[in-house]
Amino acid sequence: MKILLWGWAVMLCALMLTFWFYYETVSEELTSSSRQNTTRLLKFVRWKVSHSPEVPGTSSFQKEITELGQNLEIRITYIRNGQVLADSSVSASRLPELDDHSSRPEVIAAEASGVGKNIRYSKTLKTRMLYVAQTMDKDGEFIRLAMPYSVIGERLERIKLHFTILLLVIAGGAAITLKFIGGRTNAAVKEVSDTAAAIGEGDYGKRIRVIPGGEFQGMADSINTMARKIQGHIRIIEDQRNQLDAMFENMKEGIMVLDPKGRIESVNKSMLEIAPQTRDMIGRMPLEVLTRHEIQDSVDRILRPDNEAVSDSLIIDLQDGRSMNVTICSYEDYKSRRKLILVFHDISEVRRIERILRDFVSNASHQLRTPLTSIKGYSETLIDNPPEDKAILAKFLGTILDNANHMSKVITSMFALTRSEYSGKKLRTSPTDLSGCIRHSVTNLVPAAKKRNIRIESGDIPDVQVSGTDEGLVQIFDNLIENGVKYAPENSLIRVEAEIDDGYVVSRVTDEGPGIAPEDRERIFERFVKLDENAVGGGSSGLGLALCRSLVRNFNGDIWVESPVDAKTGTGSSFCVKLPVTDG
Ligand code: ADP
Repeated sequence: MKILLWGWAVMLCALMLTFWFYYETVSEELTSSSRQNTTRLLKFVRWKVSHSPEVPGTSSFQKEITELGQNLEIRITYIRNGQVLADSSVSASRLPELDDHSSRPEVIAAEASGVGKNIRYSKTLKTRMLYVAQTMDKDGEFIRLAMPYSVIGERLERIKLHFTILLLVIAGGAAITLKFIGGRTNAAVKEVSDTAAAIGEGDYGKRIRVIPGGEFQGMADSINTMARKIQGHIRIIEDQRNQLDAMFENMKEGIMVLDPKGRIESVNKSMLEIAPQTRDMIGRMPLEVLTRHEIQDSVDRILRPDNEAVSDSLIIDLQDGRSMNVTICSYEDYKSRRKLILVFHDISEVRRIERILRDFVSNASHQLRTPLTSIKGYSETLIDNPPEDKAILAKFLGTILDNANHMSKVITSMFALTRSEYSGKKLRTSPTDLSGCIRHSVTNLVPAAKKRNIRIESGDIPDVQVSGTDEGLVQIFDNLIENGVKYAPENSLIRVEAEIDDGYVVSRVTDEGPGIAPEDRERIFERFVKLDENAVGGGSSGLGLALCRSLVRNFNGDIWVESPVDAKTGTGSSFCVKLPVTDG
């Protein structure tokens, strides 16, 4: 808009200058042509007067001058030595009242050069007049013509008025046109600048309305193309950022980002689970959060400007006992500053499994070594000194068989336990008939129970389906009833029963055995735990209850022991198995 105003002002100045120049020229032309006319008239009047028979100073001369002046529409004055002898605009009677004309500028000029001119206000005619005087043939005599200069002035005034009107019309028209153009231009510029500002603010979907054929079309197209491209790039960046955010937030590993000074800049959800205190420690050093100098040392080393290493990996044990594999790697941000990413990978489970495996191998070897040593010893004896007494021979062979059975039981139990733990919660369970499985187990164990004169009694068992597998449930109840048969005294009773409890069914295997001391109630479910360490043979491996617990947990249930059953004698134990009831 400003530029249009400037243009308008320049145009106005140019018009005014043109007008002024034209006015001056016309004014000069008019004045000079008027002077020429006057001079021509003067020559004519002078000729006429000089050839007139009338004598200046007479009334007939005055009459002739008056008529001549009237016909020519000019004032004619005849002057002799300053005295007006005749004047076409003054009556003869008033002529003597006229003052001395010898001092009139045109007369003085005529006296000097023959012809004199002057423009001035006439007191006699009360208007601006153009005076032209010329000497006559006689000394001191002048003929003078005067015509109103206002004629020229009026024409000039008219020209001025016309020009002023024209100027105003042009200026007004130009102003209206400029206002219209300015309004359109302003609207277009405003739209362009508003859209550019909106794009700058992040509204990349904004577009400039197409202005067909408009002078801003090119610019609008360029800005629209730019916005489209920026929008495309931003979408790609947002997409990538969302991918990274999702990865960052949902990674199981804890992530900690450090700024170039080694201060915590951000952490992900998993990191907060690993070290909840980090939430309030943004901007602090990793040492302050994790109290592990190994991490801080490594961070400081990588961040040193002279250091060339860009990554590191270390294993640390946190105060709560968890083990972490920490990988530190560096990257350069957009200002080429080195930042660090710390990835905390929880390897506690791996370590736990390693430890279990170690323990398992050592326990297994211990469990197998004892019967193996026994088998080896008896076998060597039989080879080196075979006993002649058949009874002793049978005893030796019986011991070898017992130990071999025990080893077989240990290996079978180990295999079952490993399989159960390996399948874990992923095990495919299905609705399983609980009472059928219990009946199956009771039938399995009746022969063994009979040998010790133990009675197995099945109580109330609801006819429900539980979540599990047939094989698993039979294994569980086999183990529990077998334990009762093994550890309860002869001639005792083992009772198996079950009851529904809030969506679960709790089965109990109750015996009249020695019971389990409170401190052992949890421990007996661990692998290779035997309360009587000397119990070798008879298939005591210390794995039965561990297998039961592993299977029950796979079926989303629970197992525990309640003891003593008889408070008076402090004997008896009741092994409880809680399993979820499912709709058949
Ligand atoms: P085991 O093969 O030795 O029976 P278990 O894991 O089944 O292994 O049992 C672990 C230990 O718990 C047994 O060695 C035994 O000392 C004790 N135990 C298990 N069941 C009973 C029970 N019904 N009465 C008393 N002690 C039991």
